Amino acid sequence: KNLLSERINKLQTSATLAMAAKARALKAEGKDIISLSLGEPDFNTPDFIKEAAIQAINDNYTSYPPVDGYPALKEAIAGKFKRDNNLTYSTAQIVVSTGAKQALANAALVCINPGDEVILPCPYWVSYRDIVKIAEGVPVEVQTSIENDFKITPEQLEAAITPKTKMLWYSSPCNPSGSIYSKEELRALADVLQKHPDIIVVSDEIYEHINFVGGHVSMAQFEDMYNRTITVNGVSKAFAMTGWRIGYIGAPEAIAKACTKMQGQITSGANSIAQQATIAAVSAPVSKIKYMVDEFKERRTLILNLLNSIEGFNCNNPEGAFYVFPNVAALFGKTFNGKTIQNASDLSMYLLEEANVATVTGEAFGNPDCIRLSYAASKEEITTAINRIKKALS
Ligand code: PLP
Repeated sequence: KNLLSERINKLQTSATLAMAAKARALKAEGKDIISLSLGEPDFNTPDFIKEAAIQAINDNYTSYPPVDGYPALKEAIAGKFKRDNNLTYSTAQIVVSTGAKQALANAALVCINPGDEVILPCPYWVSYRDIVKIAEGVPVEVQTSIENDFKITPEQLEAAITPKTKMLWYSSPCNPSGSIYSKEELRALADVLQKHPDIIVVSDEIYEHINFVGGHVSMAQFEDMYNRTITVNGVSKAFAMTGWRIGYIGAPEAIAKACTKMQGQITSGANSIAQQATIAAVSAPVSKIKYMVDEFKERRTLILNLLNSIEGFNCNNPEGAFYVFPNVAALFGKTFNGKTIQNASDLSMYLLEEANVATVTGEAFGNPDCIRLSYAASKEEITTAINRIKKALS
């Protein structure tokens, strides 16, 4: 008998983590590697959040918390949904999880039957495809174009829907493209879904606050979508809390209950100290984290200017998150030291080896013509890294 299950053998290793491992290995050899591959803010968690965690330890928040989260945290999240998104969720509709990643996994495991199709507009966040596969769903990738700012059109959505379609998953602001769906664009997608009332939407809004143009829109704000949208959010990105592992959903009550049942058998409630710290994070005025968003905005301008000076890189104008996702197809077919760069993975590897800059291949995000660079790095690192890339490509 095989040692491991078919389930795990079918799963891919996260490409971002694989790249990080390769970069670490080169670093260990003494190479000066600049990593633009990671999806985490390079800021420390703000002090007011850390203090809330220290207080929680001293107040002995050290026992098993409720599976779906402390009532006080769920109240605070309900307040955040109302304040930032004009969404009314009762605490019974909110589930706190170990990161938005677990929230997404719960959503997949409680909604998807084997063979159900899940529409994933490309580029999508790396883990969507494999989370859907773990739930035995079928990821249906829909290619978008840089001309349309990497957003799915209503026509494309309509064409992708079949009798087996169960869900549509997207992130806005998008990791990796930085694209943000406007109200009109989301309404047009909702209009298509009108004809398909059984399709559930997962709206991943974890980059909500890292938005340089304003006007964040939640799918659930549309009355006709509210009862079939799972709004996913978390504190990892905007509050520089990746290691604290807190994410959450607002959803129809039956789905929230099912997610609680699911995680009750797998992890129980999310970390008690981190939950208490999250009360401070989500209750604080958004102005408290503006300094990080302002810094990301400056870095975006910097990295775009530098990248646009490189022949063969074609960038959209990311409006949020902290990534750029240039189309690099113009470089395919070029040869270096007898090796031909055939795709984004080859280019990403070439940049690691020749420029000592770690990026992530777009293949991981369902778009093999692009690479992703994160600008959650200092301006100095960004400047050095992109200059090195330019030199390596010239
Ligand atoms: N959704 C998107 C779009 C992300 O980029 C990430 C993290 O990279 C997550 C979800 C997961 O976040 P968390 O750290 O809360 O699990």
